[in-house]
Amino acid sequence: MRKKLLLGNWKMNKTRPEAKEFAKGCGEMVEYAVSHGIDVGVAPTFVCLCPVLKHAPKELIVAAQNVNEHDHGAYTGEISIPMLKEIGIGWVILGHSERREYNGETSEACNLKIKALLANDMVPVYCCGESLGTFEEGKTKPFVEEQIRVGLADLKPEEAEKVVIAYEPIWAIGTGKSATKEIAEETIAHIRGVLASMFGAPVAEKIRILYGGSVKPGNIAEYMSMPDIDGALVGGASLELDSYKGLIEGLVG
Ligand code: PEP
Repeated sequence: MRKKLLLGNWKMNKTRPEAKEFAKGCGEMVEYAVSHGIDVGVAPTFVCLCPVLKHAPKELIVAAQNVNEHDHGAYTGEISIPMLKEIGIGWVILGHSERREYNGETSEACNLKIKALLANDMVPVYCCGESLGTFEEGKTKPFVEEQIRVGLADLKPEEAEKVVIAYEPIWAIGTGKSATKEIAEETIAHIRGVLASMFGAPVAEKIRILYGGSVKPGNIAEYMSMPDIDGALVGGASLELDSYKGLIEGLVG
């Protein structure tokens, strides 16, 4: 049985005092989620990782929004896995469509980062998803399949089962236009089939696949009613405590 997961992607939002306020205020809701067997977390900016780790309950998963695959060296502006590990970070989001678009992050680059994270016992949250044009042409499945096959290439099954996948149609991110639960389920079920062909059905059954794209307290329960959707990666609605609480309540059902 896959454990449900809610992960908030804060993107480039919140100063350190704002992040601290959230962290200090989320204790009860994190406890509520954990008591219902649900994993919950947030992905702050690099500068806010330490304040969140310091002030939030230890059960809150704190993820970084990117990492470099090299341990150290001449990579100006980058952050390495040992740097994240040293402060107590165990999870990293990779391949978000905004990083693919604005920072040229490719599935090949994500593959290197995923392998480096797994070698360090860290959890990659690998994002995939198609543009509106690809969706309208009816090419979502082959497009996303390619992202999965390249991003997770050469992993051993026992490594693959530790990865979390987030399916986020680009046309639904931050637009208020969410995919229907049927569309999300169809693509996510396809992704699970691709994972089964790569790593075997028992491994595919263990991998958590999240939906992301304008998920809100009012619609999260719909997605959770679908058999292959194991939780949500949420941007805008994860920023405020009230809304984050609403997401947890929707997830608990
Ligand atoms: C995201 O950033 O991953 C996301 C899904 O954003 P939003 O929930 O705001 O659409």
